[in-house]
Amino acid sequence: MVIAENIHSIKSSLPEHVTLVAISKTKPLFDLMEAYYAGQRTYGENKILEMFAKWEKMPKDVQWHMVGHVQTNKVKFMAPFVKLIHGVDSIKLLLEINKQAKKCNRIIDCLLQVHIAVEETKFGLDEKEIGSLLSSEEFKELQNIRIIGLMGMATLTENQDQIKSEFMHLKSIFDHFAIQNPQFTTLSMGMSGDYQLAIDCGSTMVRIGSSIFGGR
Ligand SMILES: *Cc1c(COP(=O)(O)O)cnc(C)c1O
Repeated sequence: MVIAENIHSIKSSLPEHVTLVAISKTKPLFDLMEAYYAGQRTYGENKILEMFAKWEKMPKDVQWHMVGHVQTNKVKFMAPFVKLIHGVDSIKLLLEINKQAKKCNRIIDCLLQVHIAVEETKFGLDEKEIGSLLSSEEFKELQNIRIIGLMGMATLTENQDQIKSEFMHLKSIFDHFAIQNPQFTTLSMGMSGDYQLAIDCGSTMVRIGSSIFGGR
C-alpha cells in the first residue's frame, strides 16, 4: 500500500506538464504492479535485460524508458518496445539505435544526455558536442530516431545552490537547442532528492525511484 500512496502523493504534487517516470530498477514485479494499480504507466529501468524481462511480464500498456547508460550490443533487445531512451551520449550509439529501430519499422525517441555535474564519473555531452552532433551529416541521415530533448543528472551533493545552478545550466542549453528544433519538447531532470528544484528550473520529466519504491 505504501507504493500506491507514494504514487498518489507525488502525482498530486506535480504540475500537469511534468511526466512522472517511476524508476523501478532492482524492484520486483510485485512492486511495479502495485504502482500499476495506482495508475502508473511509465517506468524507467537502467539495465536493458532487466527491462526486457519486466516488459515480457507486465501489462502491455506500460511505457518503458531506458534511463541508464546504454551498451551498444544490447540495443536490439529493447528496440521493439522501448518508448524513450534518456541516456544517449554518442553518434555511435545513435547509429545502432537507428539500425535496430529500422529493423522493427519504428522511430525511437531519444534524449541526449548532458554532462552538468562536477563528477567526472557521470556520462554526457557538453553544449558544443551536442551542437556538432545535431548538425552533422551522419546524424541528418538517421530516419528511425528522433531527438526530443535532453536529460541530465546533478552532482550528488547537499548543496542546493550547486544543484540549482546545474539545473539552470541544463535548462539554458535546452532552450538554446529548442529554438532551432521544434521536436525538442522534453527536459528530463530531477530524481527523488531534487525533483522539486528541477521542476522549478524547468523540468518536464522527473525520474523518481526511491521516493516511490523505497531504498535499493
Ligand atoms: C536510479 C536513477 C534514478 C532514480 O533515483 P532515485 O534517487 O531513487 O529517485 C533517476 N535517474 C537515473 C538515471 C537513475 O539511474
